Amino acid sequence: MSEFKNYMPDQMIRINTKEGVRIFTCRSTKLAQTAHQYHQTSPIVTAALGRALTAAAMMGIMQKGERDTISLQFRGDGPMGLLCAVSDSKGRVRGSVANPSVYLPPNKTGKLDVGGAVGKGTLYVVRDLGLREPYIGQTPLVNGEIAEDLTYYYAASEQTPTAVGLGVLVGTDGSVLCSGGFLAQLMPGTSEEATSLLEQNIAKITSVTQLLEEGITPLELARLLGDGLKEAADPEEIQPEYYCGCSRERAEKALISVGTEELQSILDEDHKAELSCPYCDQKYQFNEEELNRLLQIAKKES
Ligand SMILES: [Zn+2]
Repeated sequence: MSEFKNYMPDQMIRINTKEGVRIFTCRSTKLAQTAHQYHQTSPIVTAALGRALTAAAMMGIMQKGERDTISLQFRGDGPMGLLCAVSDSKGRVRGSVANPSVYLPPNKTGKLDVGGAVGKGTLYVVRDLGLREPYIGQTPLVNGEIAEDLTYYYAASEQTPTAVGLGVLVGTDGSVLCSGGFLAQLMPGTSEEATSLLEQNIAKITSVTQLLEEGITPLELARLLGDGLKEAADPEEIQPEYYCGCSRERAEKALISVGTEELQSILDEDHKAELSCPYCDQKYQFNEEELNRLLQIAKKES
């Protein structure tokens, strides 16, 4: 890992208002840069992954259970392939992308063509609440720009009016200069007056990254969004981070789960195996003896 520039620490703020508005803001420069370094992403993919991770972090801390996780899967037909961002309930995120080195010309507005890299397809939101089956919601991708896709998901799949703003500013050397976002939701029963106040506040925010670059804090951003509304309690502060959490034990479980036949053929043909974690740099090597041991476990389990 190369050292970070003078990045401000990543931070999220949550404010609930008495009118029933939930506001989340996030500064995620460091975690977006970590993702870029792990996956050696091109500028477009850096932006796509950074936006998805920022949203996942804010959606992650909405989860109630300690062990709940949420994953956002953007399955588009664009050159980037599957883009995935996962968060736990503490805002610890990890992400992966099928093709990290996509280069496309700028879009009509002269910006990184994230929508073109993602393409047309489906957004899956998978909530693992520790039950037997995860809860899966899905909606068509609106334009592959991530924020609009999530806004549509909330409206269509969860019937929760939500505004999502996400931004990642990528430097000429490909590193992340600034990353952040916001998410504002209306709970049932929010008055029309409060709703239109929120809409006016959102309309004033033209660029999250510009504001963050100018030095605005996530708390100040949250208060811009909630201007005129009454805070129900003190704002909550959460520190998101890029955290993989993979281990040799998990890699062993993954190998066992491929089944006895596949394990036997790996043993016969390669006599060893290497598993690389899709979320971080970590590689796990297994020699013949270890593979034999895993094969015995797999046989017992089958
Ligand atoms: Zn890992």
